[in-house]
Amino acid sequence: MAKTLCIANQKGGVGKTTTTVNLAAGLAKLGQRVLLVDLDPQGNATMGSGIDKREVELSVYDVLLESATVKEAAVKADKCGYDVLSANRELAGAEVELVQLAHRDRRLRAALALVDADYDFVLIDCPPSLSMLTLNGLCSAHGVIVPMQCEYFALEGLTDLVNTIKQVHANLNKELKITGLLRVMFDPRITLQTQVSDQLKAHFGNKVFDTVIPRNVRLAEAPSYGLPGVVFDPSAKGSQAYVEFARELVRRAPTL
Ligand code: ADP
Ligand code: MG
Repeated sequence: MAKTLCIANQKGGVGKTTTTVNLAAGLAKLGQRVLLVDLDPQGNATMGSGIDKREVELSVYDVLLESATVKEAAVKADKCGYDVLSANRELAGAEVELVQLAHRDRRLRAALALVDADYDFVLIDCPPSLSMLTLNGLCSAHGVIVPMQCEYFALEGLTDLVNTIKQVHANLNKELKITGLLRVMFDPRITLQTQVSDQLKAHFGNKVFDTVIPRNVRLAEAPSYGLPGVVFDPSAKGSQAYVEFARELVRRAPTL
């Protein structure tokens, strides 16, 4: 059975997409079968996996509207070692179209159930909002990975997300929990970051992943080559950290 994990945080620019593509590539390196689902109309995870969002014939949009199955719409990201259910601008319209449909928040879940045996991990890159798209992600998942920067307002932003996860857990998806908080873009030379990191650990205990992702320019350069950092420059510190994170996740998988 596949472990389905959402990478979510309603803030933009916190490293969701970078985490999704690099974790997918890291897990693939470890021999795991991975499906990446791009739920953000910006399609950054799609492009960052080397798939041109303007050229895909079927995307997650078609899956949400039930005009295609995941099997039909998923494509191989050849150089990355995982499959991608892609996204493009069309997905922005799904938000409105879904409102009128039955089981509008369970569409992705139902579609993913059909490929459950084909993957070890399904990673869902969520948009920076708590929208119907994110809700579809949360309803499909066993857990949520929350990438966060160790900055002053980090904890504040977390409250809304934690409340949403609690509500989804109570009303829509009993399985859902916070898998863990992932510290990203970390710079240990900045005292404040170390302080916030310590606060996070004090507050959330073992819900904070051991692995810390450093700020690393190679991770930021990789998307312009259509590759995750892990594939673009495996020896970079950031890439190694994401592979280590993949290992941590595989280790924890039985409890996820
Ligand atoms: P989100 O998906 O949450 O909006 P992104 O993953 O797109 O965030 O990251 C936002 C920006 O930060 C991007 O330009 C990305 O390349 C950069 N970035 C993400 N993680 C790192 C990192 N560990 N080191 C350096 N730059 C990073
Ligand atoms: Mg993103």
